[in-house]
Amino acid sequence: MHSIRKPLIAANWKMNKTSSQAVDFIKRFNELTDDVSDKEILICPPFTLLYTLKEILPRNAVLGAQDVYFEQKGAFTGEISPEMLLDAGCEYVIIGHSERRHIIKENDELINKKVLSAINCGLIAILCVGETLEQRGKGLQKKIISQQLEKGLLDVNKPLRIVIAYEPVWAIGTGKVATDEQAQEMHKFIRDELCKIFAQDAARQIRIIYGGSVKPENIKGIMEQEDIDGVLVGGASLDPNLFAKIVKY
Ligand code: PEP
Repeated sequence: MHSIRKPLIAANWKMNKTSSQAVDFIKRFNELTDDVSDKEILICPPFTLLYTLKEILPRNAVLGAQDVYFEQKGAFTGEISPEMLLDAGCEYVIIGHSERRHIIKENDELINKKVLSAINCGLIAILCVGETLEQRGKGLQKKIISQQLEKGLLDVNKPLRIVIAYEPVWAIGTGKVATDEQAQEMHKFIRDELCKIFAQDAARQIRIIYGGSVKPENIKGIMEQEDIDGVLVGGASLDPNLFAKIVKY
């Protein structure tokens, strides 16, 4: 991690927790991390918990959502707009998570519309990119990531409202973590691609975070890498003790 970029440690709760479970989490997490100020802590709960967390979030943490729709309002049953997320206290939104790409079948065009809508409304978009095991097996990982970046960031002119999450699909929720060297190689590649898409100064300030089975045991090695500026944590972020250990690595 480079000193011009403040580390971002983000929790993706996915489709987990009721309001009482969320309140219990925050109480315990706050006791454990009250003294942390050198990192940005981000909690991304399900939509239903945003207002609850907005009221009780510790002062050293910020709120984000796990998805957003690109339209501002109207007849889009079940969808949530960027303005609604801002109203609910969000500063960040995750877009293009691999579970949405692979289970819900979101494509790069839709993801790009969501990114543009989110950043134009004032949110910070965390654009997730990552290759499957099959793609890596064929040596296609850089080609895939390059396409996802190029299409996902099309027409983006506010680069400082972007965070990139590199999440190899084969490492999400599987217990398999990319080696520190594999992750650094891909993050460096992403940084070089960002330098082609945006002005170099801006590209150097963009945080590139890693996701895929991050745990207290592997966080230190991951964060020691030059181009890794934080982590997106799924499973281990559901337990306040584990997530606090990751935050305080
Ligand atoms: C994620 O959901 O973004 C993720 C990386 O999950 P996990 O930490 O469980 O692999």
